[in-house]
Amino acid sequence: MTLATKAAIVTGSTSGIGLGIATALARAGANVMLNGFGDAGDIERVRADLAATSGVDVRYSPADMSDPAAVAAMVGAAEAAFGRVDILVNNAGIQHVAAIEDFPADSWHKILAINLSSNFFAMQAVIPGMKARGFGRIINVASAHGLVGSPFKSAYVAAKHGQVGLTKVAALELAETGITVNAVCPGYVRTPLVEGQIADQMKAHNLDREAVIKTVILGSQPNKRFVEVEEMGAVVAFLCSAAAQSITGIALPVDGAWTAR
Ligand code: NAD
Repeated sequence: MTLATKAAIVTGSTSGIGLGIATALARAGANVMLNGFGDAGDIERVRADLAATSGVDVRYSPADMSDPAAVAAMVGAAEAAFGRVDILVNNAGIQHVAAIEDFPADSWHKILAINLSSNFFAMQAVIPGMKARGFGRIINVASAHGLVGSPFKSAYVAAKHGQVGLTKVAALELAETGITVNAVCPGYVRTPLVEGQIADQMKAHNLDREAVIKTVILGSQPNKRFVEVEEMGAVVAFLCSAAAQSITGIALPVDGAWTAR
């Protein structure tokens, strides 16, 4: 499969799943705009390394996905740099865990803005160019929590279900344009975010690492193994390919049978 001549934006790609997806798209030949937060030196090292190892043009936008104007500016910067945006991967996301009655209003608003509303504003900005070229791939990184709930994750589960709904509407609106819109719904993926949760749960439950992974973290994931970021990259690269042109409007679980129950 080749994505040569294509240009992609992957939000939240300075780390974790987003970086795995950006790497897969670059290796397939697409120019890539990275986005996300982190140490400026680390981000520049990641950008330069990906450009050198894949031989494509890799840029970086520091746009804050909670700010609709910054989202639009990021799309404008990618169009200016690459002359086009063919692939949009809405991946940036944050989490906050608390009971509904204790959930801080500020965290609710932030999670909805970053995990859901940014997808809408980024789509608004890329769709005109995609329509003009008759080709587009929009992939929203939702979660198994876009399909089922868990306690104490009200904002996250609401935002992830919202991404799945937004995906369906956009796929229907764009069905005759050559633009496909899909959501991917990972279970637990081994990322820095989850490594932090393992450490916290070891302390909270006084369990060793293996026990926390099997019984706490992967308690809902029947295959009892993490999804790796490379697997998410490969799934998204496939959805971007010509072979996937009839796949649109789906929410694809990548979750070791979590949502099969
Ligand atoms: P991560 O914390 O490793 O990466 C998150 C990325 O988003 C980082 O690059 C961070 O800088 C960026 N980011 C955070 N806030 C931002 C903002 N306001 N503007 C721009 N960028 C911002 O997390 P991850 O585990 O790789 O998660 C990526 C996506 O996958 C999220 O949407 C998450 O909900 C989803 N997801 C993760 C898992 C998992 O197990 N790790 C499972 C299901 C879904």
